[in-house]
Parts: sequence; C-alpha cells; structure tokens
Amino acid sequence: MSDTRHCRVLIVGSGPAGYTAAVYAARAMLEPVLVQGIEPGGQLTITTDVENWPGDINVQGPELMQRMEAHARDVGTEIVTDHIATLELGARPFTAISDTGNRYSAEALILATGAKARWLGLESEDRFKGFGVSACATCDGFFYRGQEVAVVGGGNTAVEEALFLTNFAEKVTLVHRRDSLRAEKILQERLFRHPKIEVIWDHVVEEVLGAGTPPGVTGLRIKHARTGAERELPCTGAFIAIGHAPASELVAGQLELHNGGYVWVRPGTTETSLPGVFAAGDITDHVYRQAVTSAGMGCMAALDAERWLAAQSG
Ligand code: FAD
Ligand code: NAP
Repeated sequence: MSDTRHCRVLIVGSGPAGYTAAVYAARAMLEPVLVQGIEPGGQLTITTDVENWPGDINVQGPELMQRMEAHARDVGTEIVTDHIATLELGARPFTAISDTGNRYSAEALILATGAKARWLGLESEDRFKGFGVSACATCDGFFYRGQEVAVVGGGNTAVEEALFLTNFAEKVTLVHRRDSLRAEKILQERLFRHPKIEVIWDHVVEEVLGAGTPPGVTGLRIKHARTGAERELPCTGAFIAIGHAPASELVAGQLELHNGGYVWVRPGTTETSLPGVFAAGDITDHVYRQAVTSAGMGCMAALDAERWLAAQSG
C-alpha cells in the first residue's frame, strides 16, 4: 500500500472485540477496515477448549476466531494483515502508520488491541525464554512429552495450562504465591483431582535454573512467601501464566489511562477521553476480561462510533 488508505472506521485488533465491532460497523454500512496485528484472532488462538462462549458447549479457541473473522469479512469488513506501529491522534482524521510504513487515516477509530502476557521480570526468565520458559502451553506443550514441567500462577489461565500440559508431561507442578486460587471453581476441581498435578502453595519463583548450549531449563529455585525458605523444583519447562497487561502503548500519552495502563472509557460507553476514539475489550477492561464481554464491548464501540459519526455530519 503506497498511498494513505482512508476509512470512516478503522478497527485496530482482531480478537473478539475487534471482529464484533467489525460485524456491527459493516452492517451499519460504515465500510470498516480492520488491522489484525501480529496475533490474528487474538488471545483465544493460543488456547484450546472454550466452554463459556454462549451457544457452543465446547469450541476450540482458534476455530471460534476463524468463524468470527469469516463473519466480519462476509458482511463487508476489509481485513488487513498489518501491525500498527504509530497512532497520531492529535488531529482529525486520525492517522495510523504500520510497521511496514502503510498509512491509514480514519474518521473514527476503534481500539481493540487486547492484552499481552505478563512476565515475572527475572533476568533468568528472560535468558531462557524460548528455551524452556514459555507463556503459552498450547503453543509449546508438545515439546515436553514425558517430562516434568511447572506452571506459575493461580488464575484461570494457569489452571487451564496445567490441565492442558497433562496431555504431554509426566508431571505438572503448579506454583502459586498464595494459599488459594482465583481460578473458577469448576477448573479448580479438575486441577485438584488430576493425578499428574501437584500444587505448591505460598511460593514465588526466585530464579529459573538451567545450563547448556543451546540453553535448557533444569528447574526453578522457589522461595516460601512467608518463611523465606528456599528449595529447588526440578523441571524442564516453566510456563508463566500470571496474567496479561493491556496493550495500550500505542496511545500512552494520547488517551487517559487508568488502573495500570487500561484505556479509560466513560462509564457505560466505549468513549475514550478523545472524541472519535473508542476502546473495547481487554484493553479497557481490568475486571471481566472474557471473550463474551470483549465481544459485547466491540458491539458497543461500533454503535458508539456510528452515532458519533452521524452527529459529526448532521
Ligand atoms: P485480544 O484477544 O487480546 O486480541 C487483541 C488483538 O489486537 C490481536 O488480534 C492483536 O494482533 C491485535 N493487536 C495488538 N496490538 C496491535 C497493533 N499495534 N496493531 C494491530 N493490531 C494489534 N475468555 C473466555 O471468555 N473464555 C475462555 O475460555 C478464555 N480462555 C483464555 C485462555 C487463555 C490462554 C487466555 C490468555 C485468555 C483466555 N480468555 C478466555 C480471555 C479472552 O481470550 C480475552 O478476554 C479476549 O480474547 C480479549 O479479546 P480482545 O478482542 O479484547 O483482545
Ligand atoms: P489473572 O486472573 O489476573 O490471574 C493471574 C494470576 O497470577 C493470579 O493468581 C496472581 O496471583 C498470579 N500472579 C500475578 N502476578 C504474579 C507474580 N508476579 N508472581 C507470581 N504470581 C503472580 O490472569 P489470567 O489467569 O491470565 O486470566 C486473565 C483473564 O482472562 C481473567 O479475567 C480470566 O477470567 C480470563 N480467562 C478466562 C478463562 C475461562 O473463562 N476459562 C480462561 C483463561 C483466562 P494472585 O491470585 O495472588 O493475585
């Protein structure tokens, strides 16, 4: 793309929020353009079973996202494989520039860039990323057939990853910093009764241990959160599942953020602090962070954008 691509509504992000916004905006004849980003389909593409999407008792995450993409395309969304590197929101129309230099101008903008995995922040974790340290069991679990792995975290993601890893690993140890999980009760029950899973409570990871060329993980040095007692947990894979942070770096300094980087929206709407810019899904939601709530906010964003555009031209 050499010239600037002008659109009435530009949607950035292709998770449940982005695709739902696209369906509604396209059906409102706004001819939306949706930029997918480096993870087409968003976070659900790195999971397997989704059991809480209404209407599907069980659906695979990647399949659900393919269906959403097909739906958005079918009703007239232009879907672009590109990644936005810069957003210029100081003047209207807004400008988006991709990392390959493509330019988009937009009368209204819907931000649906979701969230990214959080890391522990240890130097040793960084050193072994891709060599035994992972944030995606669905992507990397297969490499640990017959081995011992650890999962760090206590939310839905950690419990689901631990359960999923039992398909490959000989033993899965969940390391959690407290003495209770925040995961849904139904998932906790599955975890506790699984014969391959052990839970180590009240422990934090101090260091990822490993050696060799290429490097490989041999264990974790973990510390009791209250007594400070340290021990080593042998494992060849460490899956970090301690939550996700909002992907709001594109708009930092341009839009009001709150609660540690989430885009602020006027309560009950998807209107950000800047007229014409709307936000939906995990980028703005520090409470629910579900596929269905993200999709709901995507719908709201398209409706909010449509009304705002109508008010501008009327
Ligand atoms: P995301 O799904 O995070 O998608 C963000 C999109 O933005 C991506 O397409 C990305 O490529 C794009 N993007 C980011 N930056 C840019 C950029 N600069 N330029 C262009 N595009 C960009 N929820 C449930 O309801 N049920 C479940 O069973 C469930 N399981 C989960 C399992 C795992 C392992 C994880 C991590 C989450 C799970 N969730 C589940 C939560 C759910 O996935 C999220 O709430 C939901 O995906 C958020 O949707 P979203 O559209 O806001 O953003
Ligand atoms: P989360 O709910 O925020 O849980 C993060 C977990 O990591 C918490 O247990 C937290 O401990 C722990 N943690 C955070 N920082 C840590 C650190 N520095 N060191 C050690 N432990 C740390 O994140 P999530 O599990 O990724 O879920 C994110 C959202 O997606 C949630 O809303 C969740 O419901 C949703 N989701 C839903 C499903 C599903 O519906 N089946 C599946 C996956 C995700 P504390 O408990 O002590 O705070």
